[in-house]
Amino acid sequence: MGIFSEANKYIVGGVNSPVRAFKSVGGEPPFIRKGVGAYFYDIDNNKYLDYIQSWGPLIFGHCNKEIEEAIIKAIKDGVSFGAPTTIEIDLAKEILELFPHLDLIRFVNSGTEATMSAIRLARGYTGKDDIIKFEGCYHGHSDSLLVSAGSGAATFGVPSSPGVPKDFTKHTLLAKYNDIESVKKCFENGNVGCVIIEPIAGNMSLVPADKEFLGELRELCNHYNAVLIFDEVMSGFRASLRGSFDIYGIEADIVTFGKVIGGGMPVGAFAGRKEIMEMLSPIGPVYQAGTLSGNPVAMAAGLTQIKKLKENPEIYKNLEIKAKKLMQGFSEISKEEKIEFNYNVIGSMFGFFFNHKLPKNFDEVNESDTSKYAAFHNKMLKEGFYFAPSAYETGFICTPMTDEDIQNTIDSYKKIAKEI
Ligand code: PLP
Repeated sequence: MGIFSEANKYIVGGVNSPVRAFKSVGGEPPFIRKGVGAYFYDIDNNKYLDYIQSWGPLIFGHCNKEIEEAIIKAIKDGVSFGAPTTIEIDLAKEILELFPHLDLIRFVNSGTEATMSAIRLARGYTGKDDIIKFEGCYHGHSDSLLVSAGSGAATFGVPSSPGVPKDFTKHTLLAKYNDIESVKKCFENGNVGCVIIEPIAGNMSLVPADKEFLGELRELCNHYNAVLIFDEVMSGFRASLRGSFDIYGIEADIVTFGKVIGGGMPVGAFAGRKEIMEMLSPIGPVYQAGTLSGNPVAMAAGLTQIKKLKENPEIYKNLEIKAKKLMQGFSEISKEEKIEFNYNVIGSMFGFFFNHKLPKNFDEVNESDTSKYAAFHNKMLKEGFYFAPSAYETGFICTPMTDEDIQNTIDSYKKIAKEI
């Protein structure tokens, strides 16, 4: 019996997070045994250049020595206490120091927890129940955020999963990414307490917001007294050191962080202005808690990663050069082969579309050829390159990736492009 069949006997769908099952690209997922730098190996010892890097957090690649040592050192002092530790203060300081508009932070265990808690806090702070989210943005799997695209702007959200009552999502209004008119309609139609957005959307491949659109969004939130939440679970410390803040300079009221600030360990966080954050328990009435929140091992990994990033801010430029080289290489080959291809690169993040134009919103992303992506994925995997098993995901470059790695990837794409 193959390992995937064995996994399916015990674990639902053989995986513990759906996209890992390769359903949208076909084939069976390799089971990973070990990572080393830019690469990982499966249980049959096949080697892959890893372009997902645990979906973002491993900027320094697998098994970075300093992060590994910090984890081991922390473990030796105890894996969990459920009581305050000073390393939580250290990581909080390192993060907040970078964002003058964020005063206080709370650590959680995942991105889902961060956005869910941020929404509750925003609702508690404003006393208003309606929220605006954007088609194609993913904020984790909590009920009120699990609302699909497709219902059109300014209509009330329809749950995208059975088990989510309509009553829970009727307060989620859907707007179109990069379309300020659709946001205005939502504000006019509802009693909106908060807007949540990925300022650099990484869950419909990679689609950055237009600067003007984000600026207008900020103004609308001011006008309607709504809390603006930037979900930077993926882009924070990935697109650049300060995520979207470096790129747009726009101040959100709350920013959510995730995996990247844990260096690969399970961490999330939300940070905001004092008057909002002080609504949170134990100071204020909005309840939020977590047995393992601020876990010392996760904090140690995160602290080491964030310090390394702050000490070496030039890495983002270098990673971007590599990401651009990869995408330009793919683009030239696609042109030669008459394949419709467009791409975005922001810092160490890249996204590409088998699409005649560069999408600005989810509808346009959906015009991309997903069967071509599946063929691309399949063939590149056989060549030893692990790209995200879905056309809707972002790719990531890590520091151990060499120019030679990038060139090899381009050469392999040249080889397979004719067949997709
Ligand atoms: N928000 C964004 C922007 C994400 O990309 C993700 C996950 O990829 C989440 C929230 C949810 O994070 P997690 O999977 O850690 O719950």
